[in-house]
Amino acid sequence: TAAVSYSSLPEPQTSPDVLYTGLFINNEWHKSKSGKSFETINPTTAKSIAEVQSAGKEDIDFAVKAARQAFKLGSPWRRMDASDRGRLLYRLADLMERDQVYLASLETLDNGKPYSMSYNVDLPTAIKNLRYFAGWADKTHGKTIPMDGEFFSYTRHEPVGVCGQIIPWNFPILMMAWKLGPALATGNTIVLKPAEQTSLTALYIAQLVKEAGFPEGVVNVVPGFGEAGAALANHSDVDKVAFTGSTDVGKLIQLASGNTNLKRVTLELGGKSPNIILADTDLDYAVETAHFGLFFNMGQCCCAGSRTFVEDKIYDEFVERSAERAKQRTVGNPFDLTTEQGPQVNEEQMQKILGLIKTGQDQGAKLVAGGNRPDGLPGYFVQPTVFADVNDNMTIAREEIFGPVQQLIRFKQLDEVIERANNSDYGLAAGVFTKDLDKANYLVNGLRAGTIWVNTYNALASQTPFGGYKMSGHGRENGEYALSNYTEVKSVIVKVPQKNS
Ligand code: NAD
Repeated sequence: TAAVSYSSLPEPQTSPDVLYTGLFINNEWHKSKSGKSFETINPTTAKSIAEVQSAGKEDIDFAVKAARQAFKLGSPWRRMDASDRGRLLYRLADLMERDQVYLASLETLDNGKPYSMSYNVDLPTAIKNLRYFAGWADKTHGKTIPMDGEFFSYTRHEPVGVCGQIIPWNFPILMMAWKLGPALATGNTIVLKPAEQTSLTALYIAQLVKEAGFPEGVVNVVPGFGEAGAALANHSDVDKVAFTGSTDVGKLIQLASGNTNLKRVTLELGGKSPNIILADTDLDYAVETAHFGLFFNMGQCCCAGSRTFVEDKIYDEFVERSAERAKQRTVGNPFDLTTEQGPQVNEEQMQKILGLIKTGQDQGAKLVAGGNRPDGLPGYFVQPTVFADVNDNMTIAREEIFGPVQQLIRFKQLDEVIERANNSDYGLAAGVFTKDLDKANYLVNGLRAGTIWVNTYNALASQTPFGGYKMSGHGRENGEYALSNYTEVKSVIVKVPQKNS
């Protein structure tokens, strides 16, 4: 994650104009056919920011038709040189960079994340992602294959077609970039549904898609609730759905595919990631990195290190220092450049987190920091909270909290901790802190998770694949691996009169 330098941060726009609140279909703005709209709320103040059009089934139909039309044989998009698809993606990235202050400000307003993070982390990471995939546009290709018999055989990597993309509210811009980049580089068309809590930046980026010069219908952005997502997942003319969000909804998406046209499905779901701290590690560094691994983005990270396993010998010291660090975490107005933690995304999430904190107390975990809402803040804030003496079976050690609540769990043996760490329905990520190379390698091979961080946490980049084992999902985003989510492989076999080696 980019280091934050406050001095180099341009001033945020604390009341950015909201320019787009409609449905973006065929490079034009539309009202919902039902006339329905919904409020988007500023989580820092609990006040309304704007009314956003709410897509229903008939709007999804309209958007899918636009995407299908743009994907037709002979369309400008299908006939475009692959390198030109890349150029359009580079242009989109440049436009996001041009408007970085505005977009980071709007993200902070709508989501509540500190501006220092939206400007220094979300925006640059999203921009780099689009550039990374822009580079792949003319570099992903098939093979010629020495097939038995008098044949010439080759493969084509073709776009899957119309892709539904349903994204969450925790990293609205970044999740949009992760979805657009690989899909557009490989020539698909898109109907993207942002999360209802955070539609505004996706809608602004839709306008940038048009400005960049993408042909109409290639990218359609339709704000709305789960109903709109479900209409996409159940649509028989959608070839693929990529979803990031909760495991419960992920299951519904997969069911919808099975009940309709067996559309391809990739899922990036929840986690309860173990972060394993061995006694030989640098304690200050491990405390700080485990703190960051959990509290970053108000704990609203699918890969949050939410089960921190600490070796017995250093456990008490680790608890004391972690509680101290959490108490020092600055909570408040996300536009204030020294704020580390803003509000949770909405009231529902805040209440869910407070409810889970209560289960921790009721089930006998020891609260050593936080536990409540902070005084004097009107929005959906939760104090940085740390629990010690957490057992594996407590609700806070099993369920995804998605909030600023750290669980510190004691362990003694390496094999024991591998078994306990793997004893979860999830398998998104894991962390290991040790100076002992043999122990690190043993843990890396034993842990069942899609990403393992050694002596670091939350280090993500466009080049490295990211995704889950088990109920954390399937498919990989980022890196070369992401391209296979968006391509079909076609074998072409041509009879030849005589084969020669
Ligand atoms: P969610 O899964 O309900 O929402 C994610 C997206 O799916 C949103 O765009 C939403 O509108 C859409 N959606 C909702 N119901 C749908 C349906 N039936 N069919 C298709 N799409 C549907 O997540 P949430 O309710 O916003 O958050 C609940 C929990 O999900 C969180 O507490 C957290 O545990 C988890 N979550 C995980 C991630 C992640 O990055 N993996 C992100 C956000 C939330």
